[in-house]
Amino acid sequence: MLAINGGEPIWKSRWPSWPFMSDYAKQALEEVYDSGRWAISGPSLGVPSKEFLFSLAFAEYCQTRYCVPTSHGSSALLIALEALGIGAGDEVIIPALTWVATGSAVTNVNAIPVFVDIDPATLCISPDAIDAACTSRTTAIIPVHLYSGMADMDEVLRIASSKNLAVIEDCAQAHGAQWMGRPAGSLGNIGVFSMQETKVLTSGEGGAAITNDKDLYWKLEQLRADGRIRVDGVLRGMMDLAEVGKIQGSNYCLSEFQAALLSANLKVLDEQHQQRSKNSGLLDKLLKTIEGVTPISCDTRFSKRVFYRYVIRVDRRAFSNQKIDVIKKALSAELGFDILLLHKPFNKNPLYSPLSKKRFNISQEHTSRLKILDSKYINAESAYETCVSFPHQILLGNEDHMNAIFSAFQKVKRYAATMQ
Ligand SMILES: *Cc1c(COP(=O)(O)O)cnc(C)c1O
Repeated sequence: MLAINGGEPIWKSRWPSWPFMSDYAKQALEEVYDSGRWAISGPSLGVPSKEFLFSLAFAEYCQTRYCVPTSHGSSALLIALEALGIGAGDEVIIPALTWVATGSAVTNVNAIPVFVDIDPATLCISPDAIDAACTSRTTAIIPVHLYSGMADMDEVLRIASSKNLAVIEDCAQAHGAQWMGRPAGSLGNIGVFSMQETKVLTSGEGGAAITNDKDLYWKLEQLRADGRIRVDGVLRGMMDLAEVGKIQGSNYCLSEFQAALLSANLKVLDEQHQQRSKNSGLLDKLLKTIEGVTPISCDTRFSKRVFYRYVIRVDRRAFSNQKIDVIKKALSAELGFDILLLHKPFNKNPLYSPLSKKRFNISQEHTSRLKILDSKYINAESAYETCVSFPHQILLGNEDHMNAIFSAFQKVKRYAATMQ
């Protein structure tokens, strides 16, 4: 009998937890506490701030020249758009399937998000759909490297250069992924990351924007620190941040605590990616033997795949035509952790509602361009209705954990007709 109907669950012991906790990260936090310097907007200790040291380490990890840490992934997206001069009335092309923040960041600079469908194989933005959506008002594309996929960056970059569009890579779910040997975030004009608690590199809340362009870096710095930039060689007790003010900024700075945590966690990121990769390979093999169950795969140009979520597509006909939500609940009950659905596509997502805010009520033309309710995104909507997923920490488990997931799919499929 299925666990959801009162039967014995497949798995009753623990799963790996997240965020990852370690003694050295705790020690790094204590050091910041004791140092008395908690923010880059405070006086210098005469040594580089934790925030600057993290920016160097993360830029190196991503093989880019510059990195500007931020308070959130959302603020990194926002300053990326602002640094590229995107604003009032501009159209920015984004996928219909992503976390809501990609879309709200575009509205927050008074630009218009233009949602396009995804490639059903990768769940990332479809290059053909980008091509079809370009107009004379399009200024940028935000490909999102979603779940465990990467957008087809060859095509995105080709379209962008032929139409003179900026590219902001949303890498909130892809720290360390590589496209033909080049790190995610280093291919477009700016790459943005989130270090929110569920992400693979985290400080609870946090983010970063990376670039190879010196001019963009100079703008990003001011945009995240109220118009100030960092200067070198400041004496103890003096301010690190010089008041430049060539651009109006906001305060989107990362605290010293967060920066210290990120530097500590960055050291184990690739080790954790390797463990996830090993387990995902094992799970791919197991799940593929079940008819009607297909793990999302990736193409060979995606040279280093990293997992934020492991996504599985199910053929509902093999599950007595049950709704995805019912399948999700049955799997969760067998395994003892919450199996997740995908993000809701924008046209069905209650979290996306710019017209609920007076600040976007700029003109009738603007509000009419923000409406998307009548649109259809066939592949994004179908993915939402046929995929389940689970978070990356599950892939930090062992072989028994992976076997349990396999057994749960087998069992739920066998007894699918008994689910309510
Ligand atoms: C998490 C996430 C963001 C936003 O990051 P925050 O740090 O929560 O502001 C943006 N885009 C994607 C794809 C995300 O997953």
